[in-house]
Amino acid sequence: MTAASVTRLLSGFPQRLPGLRAVYEDLHAHPELSFQEFRTAGVVAARLREQGWEVTEGVGGTCVVGVMANGEGPVVLLRADMDGLPVEERTGLPYASRETAVDGDGQEVPVMHACGHDMHVTCLLGATAQLAAGRAEWRGTVVAVFQPAEEVGGAPAMIEDGFLERFPRADVCLGQHVSPAPVGLVGTRPGPVMAASDSLRVRLFGRGGHGSTPETTVDPIVMAAAVVMRLQTVVSREVAAAQTAVVTVGSLHAGTKENIIPDTADLRINIRSTTPAVRDRVLAAVERIVRAEAAASGAPKDPEIDGINSFPVTVNDERATGTVLTAIGEVLGAERVFTLPQTLTGSEDFGVFGTALGVPSVFWHFGGADPALFRHIAIEDVLKDGLPDAVPANHSPLFAPVPDPTIRTGVTALLAAAAAWLCGEDDRASDPRES
Ligand code: ZN
Ligand code: ZN
Repeated sequence: MTAASVTRLLSGFPQRLPGLRAVYEDLHAHPELSFQEFRTAGVVAARLREQGWEVTEGVGGTCVVGVMANGEGPVVLLRADMDGLPVEERTGLPYASRETAVDGDGQEVPVMHACGHDMHVTCLLGATAQLAAGRAEWRGTVVAVFQPAEEVGGAPAMIEDGFLERFPRADVCLGQHVSPAPVGLVGTRPGPVMAASDSLRVRLFGRGGHGSTPETTVDPIVMAAAVVMRLQTVVSREVAAAQTAVVTVGSLHAGTKENIIPDTADLRINIRSTTPAVRDRVLAAVERIVRAEAAASGAPKDPEIDGINSFPVTVNDERATGTVLTAIGEVLGAERVFTLPQTLTGSEDFGVFGTALGVPSVFWHFGGADPALFRHIAIEDVLKDGLPDAVPANHSPLFAPVPDPTIRTGVTALLAAAAAWLCGEDDRASDPRES
């Protein structure tokens, strides 16, 4: 059974946990924006070298790839992402971030690990340490990928930088994300697990002038307000109730002073969808509304609409997902492993690896929230109805996974999933290439 191998692979882990916790707190205190993960990459590369991995730095930006070849056997890709977000941390933790950085628009912004990617790096470094120390327990090759810029879709930059040709080609790709579910729980689903995401930048053109004589102007702020409100009807009026889509205007900037009507207004819009048909429909509706509201306002010039980034739906291979859920359940306990009832509206670029390699991939979520926040709430109700309000979710300035046992859960889940390919004799998927 793989469970026995994983137990042996975890030997020595309790002694390594304080060190890992220190890595986590250090990474958390020093988050970096997408494609600026130089310090983080340095920490990762140094640790991997200490552990005995063959290390390559600077793939597609700041990516660090660790390779360990350990005899004949499957090639397993394990992936963690490294970037933080422009969010001002309000957790009050002793290791809270006070960092700032200059973003792509030249603005100085606060930076926080508000999505928990510091936890992903820590857990993968924990797993690589156990794999290196427990080489006698497994056969095959592990490719540990510490990816930059997940928040803006950094995976394609690695593919463009020759990732597929430069490293052993994986038979399966495995990745995980910390979530606001109670710590100790793991969940995923076969098929579409995370939504597609499309981000757009929109510039609306008006004609500026004095705030006292609006009749001589075309006010882009009123135009933008109408666009924002009308966009709320896309999901409610144009997407079927049984379908899933989200339209969010996350940024709206116009003007400098109360008595000046500006020339332009800038919006940033994010769209989530779970099928190509819904995606096409929502994107078309957003463009139609932006152009029509500009025309309705008498805009002197058509709006500019540009794509910022686009993530495909993350699809879990059916058979490999069963293998992973069984393997994690054998180690953590089947009662801690859940099949998610629906596709999550969050998005990921993890699927890019499996798609580019043409092999199965599996992505799962592991809880990091203090179970006390879920007192009297059954996890089945959370899966059905969503999180209680008191639990800060990813991207919140209050998002704060409990370091331990979240680290232990994440390391164990990675090792259990990888062991299903690396340690299995007859009980694992016999040839992962078939699935
Ligand atoms: Zn995120
Ligand atoms: Zn994330």
